[in-house]
Amino acid sequence: MKTYSIALIPGDGIGPAVTEAAWQVVEAVARGADFTVHATRLPWSCDHYLETGAMMPEDGVEILRGRDAILLGAVGWPRKVPDSISLHGLLLPIRKAFRQYANIRPHRLLPGVEGPLRKSEFDILCVRENTEGEYSGAGGRVHQGTEDEVAVETAIFTRKGVERILRFGFEQARRRRGKLASVTKSNAQRHSMVFWDEVTHELAREYSDVEVTSYHIDAMAARMVMAPETLDVVVASNLFGDVLTDLGAAIQGGLGFAASANLNPDRSTLSMFEPVHGSAPDIAHLGIANPIAAIWSASMMLDHLGETDAAARIMQAIEAITARGMGTVPGEHKTDDITRAVLTALH
Ligand code: ATP
Repeated sequence: MKTYSIALIPGDGIGPAVTEAAWQVVEAVARGADFTVHATRLPWSCDHYLETGAMMPEDGVEILRGRDAILLGAVGWPRKVPDSISLHGLLLPIRKAFRQYANIRPHRLLPGVEGPLRKSEFDILCVRENTEGEYSGAGGRVHQGTEDEVAVETAIFTRKGVERILRFGFEQARRRRGKLASVTKSNAQRHSMVFWDEVTHELAREYSDVEVTSYHIDAMAARMVMAPETLDVVVASNLFGDVLTDLGAAIQGGLGFAASANLNPDRSTLSMFEPVHGSAPDIAHLGIANPIAAIWSASMMLDHLGETDAAARIMQAIEAITARGMGTVPGEHKTDDITRAVLTALH
């Protein structure tokens, strides 16, 4: 029987509660299937930083290597540790070390969730470049604190990076409804974004069965609100994808429903699965965090591992409970009650 070794990084704030909920669901679905799961819990978080001076140990990447996947809750607690440290000390190094270059986020309304647009017919898969672009970390500051201070943040777009994320987008479109929206700002950013558009057109010749449209980021933001039903796969750079997927989370009813995967699509190393939301310090310890985003992310993990039946069973259980209003209104149900309802629906 196949055993999957999963690294659990619960992190900060509501991270531990939603990760525990997701893990209970994974264990439950595995009991009825022909695979087993084994968790290694890693305490890497802002508290860990305050105790040790590092978000994760120096050999953190080595500790993760060899596992089948990472399931992460949320990392960050700005009042304790600046976001620049928590992000650059844990999430970004993991995404880069394991070449998790595709961040995918499904945006659709679960049954029973109304969403701010009152439209039930959209099903978007956002594909965000995850390792370079505007978040490459290249840059610097000089003359700090003086009137001559300069800050430079350089966006890096490589042919390899742009081509592989677009190719991944085309492949996803092929498996879905055959439509790809490529997002740039090539009217204003005439080097990197014109380059992105060119690579899109080159690949479009190879994927002639996929209908490709290029949008500017501002037009795409408007379209996601005004006509989300016209979109299928949306592929964008690191920064643009970051912003659009928060918009995607909003139209699907809020961060409690937004799941994500940081994929190494060629499967040469491990991938990481996490809800889109942060540590939500305002509701941490109240027991009301919605675990659905984390449970949905766990379903994406099983899907990626090839356990497609188990993944689908989790989604059916989530949809069964939201259809009767469980977990659809923020704060109305406790984390534990929603988790119990999913577990019951699984059986
Ligand atoms: P980050 O920058 O770390 O992504 P953020 O600033 O986007 O974090 P979050 O921590 O995601 O903020 O929280 C934003 C708001 O959404 C908060 O008011 C929080 O309470 C709410 N929220 C986030 N996740 C959940 C959840 N799972 N259940 C209920 N409310 C949530």
